[in-house]
Amino acid sequence: MNIPKMSIPRVVIVGGGFAGVSLSKGLRGKDFQVVLIDRHNYHTFQPLLYQVATGGLEPGSIAFPLRKTLNDVDNYYYRMTEVLSVDDAHKKIVTTIGELEYDILVLATGSKTNYFGNKNIEKHSMAMKTIPQSLNIRSLILENLEEALLTKDLSTRNALMNFVIVGGGPTGVELAGALAEMKKDIFQKDYPDLDIRQMEINIIEGSSNLLDAMSAQSSKKAEDFLAGLGVNIWKEVIVTDYDGKKVKTNTDLELNTEIVIWAAGVEGTAMKGLKSTCIVERAKRIKVDAFNRVEGYDSVYAIGDVASMASEVYPRGHAMMAQPAIQQGTLLAKNLVRERKGKELIAFKYNDKGSMATIGRNKAVVDLPNWKFQGVFAWIVWMFVHLFSLIGVRNKVVVFFNWVYNYIRFDRETRLIVRPFKKRDKESF
Ligand SMILES: Cc1cc2nc3c(=O)[nH]c(=O)nc-3n(C[C@H](O)[C@H](O)[C@H](O)COP(=O)(O)OP(=O)(O)OC[C@H]3O[C@@H](n4cnc5c(N)ncnc54)[C@H](O)[C@@H]3O)c2cc1C
Repeated sequence: MNIPKMSIPRVVIVGGGFAGVSLSKGLRGKDFQVVLIDRHNYHTFQPLLYQVATGGLEPGSIAFPLRKTLNDVDNYYYRMTEVLSVDDAHKKIVTTIGELEYDILVLATGSKTNYFGNKNIEKHSMAMKTIPQSLNIRSLILENLEEALLTKDLSTRNALMNFVIVGGGPTGVELAGALAEMKKDIFQKDYPDLDIRQMEINIIEGSSNLLDAMSAQSSKKAEDFLAGLGVNIWKEVIVTDYDGKKVKTNTDLELNTEIVIWAAGVEGTAMKGLKSTCIVERAKRIKVDAFNRVEGYDSVYAIGDVASMASEVYPRGHAMMAQPAIQQGTLLAKNLVRERKGKELIAFKYNDKGSMATIGRNKAVVDLPNWKFQGVFAWIVWMFVHLFSLIGVRNKVVVFFNWVYNYIRFDRETRLIVRPFKKRDKESF
């Protein structure tokens, strides 16, 4: 990999997401050689992927070049590659471009879409974990409408205009709201020769509430907002199959559709080569102690979505959200420095800043630890929190101006089929 061996310890960080980037920044100038590895050369701000998928933002505005995050720091290296496995006996990782030795290894590989073992659903539905996947969804939404315009067959047209989102968490809810607004404000005008009233948006949730992890009042309000936008809400329904044409469920509900967006769950991206005893079986997350050290290892750590730090308050580990990832990355940087100085390590304590979701124009729900609110003010709070969390000044400015423009003009101008999506060539990354 052409990385020189130095006298200072080498920290290899796998994953340039929220956790990996906060750790890299924390190690800035701290007498470590830092090697950051990611299969993409950019950091993705996943909370806004749905806006890329619905033409509200261009992909470049929610991504940030990883090389730029620390390009002014000595002893910092970035390599674009996929890590295949860990060989801790020889203190090295195996990647697609070769092997690399480490003194300290940090796995910050995040999570991936969980299809709960259903191969059919995996093959035919659309995931939304990466920018390429969001662009695929954007293309498919528009391609389906173009196709609907051409067909004379009513049932084919209905299936092309029937949008199904599986999963009523923040991702599903935000996507459903954005699609409903596109139907109302944009598609009516864009497709005057298509009866857009026939477009249906369905959201299917297995539990009895949308936004089940949020407060009852936020969950209820989100449902009201979506119902008001004309979204069909199906609760306590589990999708059991999708063959590319028909969604089947554990109830009588069946939906003929040419697009299913799967937002029903994620699982950790645990790495090959780790002992099976340190992997949580169902969640595929890596068991870590209060200092993010992987169970049974001295110099391997895991942070962010992939780490499961079980405690009394969080028996199944922390929520797979940006804040635990950022906070764990920041603390691990401090602890690595403390360890080198022989100081006592600080145990991780999650500072829960709350959660939020937006359902569309002027509509959001916010649960802070001591205050829950919904509506226009919540929407403004949602916008500013997301704006300030984006990495890079350019991204903040571009997103802000896009949002102002879209708000004033009732528009989403990046509704472009730049890279047509062929259902047969579905990408898996
Ligand atoms: C659509 C969507 C919406 C979301 N909305 C919110 C929200 O509103 N609020 C919130 O708090 N959270 C939200 N989340 C969750 C949040 O984005 C994650 O919790 C967060 O990204 C976790 O950070 P991480 O650093 O652990 O992993 P990630 O950010 O996923 O980063 C992992 C990185 O590791 C890389 N990687 C993985 N495996 C390998 C490998 N083998 N080799 C090389 N590189 C690898 C990946 O390319 C990626 O860059 C959302 C997630 C999604 C998908």
